Amino acid sequence: MDVTAVVLARVIDRTASAVCAHAAHLTRLDQAIGDGDHGSNLARGFKEVAGRRDEFASLPLGEALRKIGMTLVMKVGGASGPLYGTLLIEMGKAAPDGREIALADMARMFEHGVAALMRRGRSEPGQKTMLDVLCPVADALAFATTDKGVTDMTAHIRDAAAEGLESTRAMRATRGRASYLGERSIGHLDPGAASSQLLVEALIAALEETP
Ligand code: ADP
Ligand code: MG
Repeated sequence: MDVTAVVLARVIDRTASAVCAHAAHLTRLDQAIGDGDHGSNLARGFKEVAGRRDEFASLPLGEALRKIGMTLVMKVGGASGPLYGTLLIEMGKAAPDGREIALADMARMFEHGVAALMRRGRSEPGQKTMLDVLCPVADALAFATTDKGVTDMTAHIRDAAAEGLESTRAMRATRGRASYLGERSIGHLDPGAASSQLLVEALIAALEETP
């Protein structure tokens, strides 16, 4: 895939508008098991990124991802800002030099980013966090690069994200603010898993859009 400035600009637009359109929903989820700021935190960060879209889109992919990641660290705040920021900064470090990225590059970048997020958050899947979406998505991407592959890769990734989000409902949170609730965190979707699922959807939609 050729990640031109146009494609990168589209990804920024799509992800930012998805976050803004769902900010109230994300905040409601965070009101149930956190402090009710996840939607507004993310909307603040993604609005800043969208405002600087042309500047970011004109950069080489690795540099663009690193700068967008740093912007999210500074503007989103909370726990999720540094975590999403780390994901993008580290994906940027693992990006190939040119504009052309193969599926295997994408899988490797994502895996590298998610591993860094796990180190930063001292967390792993099963703790009712964004990792319950991001790890299955990383696995689905890695699987798509194997010989077995899959017939419909994007449907496979979308399903992994949606199932990952739904799986957080039955979990007891052991990381982040929701962990203070103990058993009472059970029965609610995790807000960070919800934002990850909608970001994955928006990213796929942007990449699938024909020029
Ligand atoms: P805060 O909890 O500081 O208010 P946000 O509301 O923006 O920050 O983000 C909360 C989300 O961050 C959670 O729903 C969870 O998915 C994610 N999160 C929190 N701590 C961790 C962690 N240690 N590892 C992975 N994800 C985490
Ligand atoms: Mg919060």
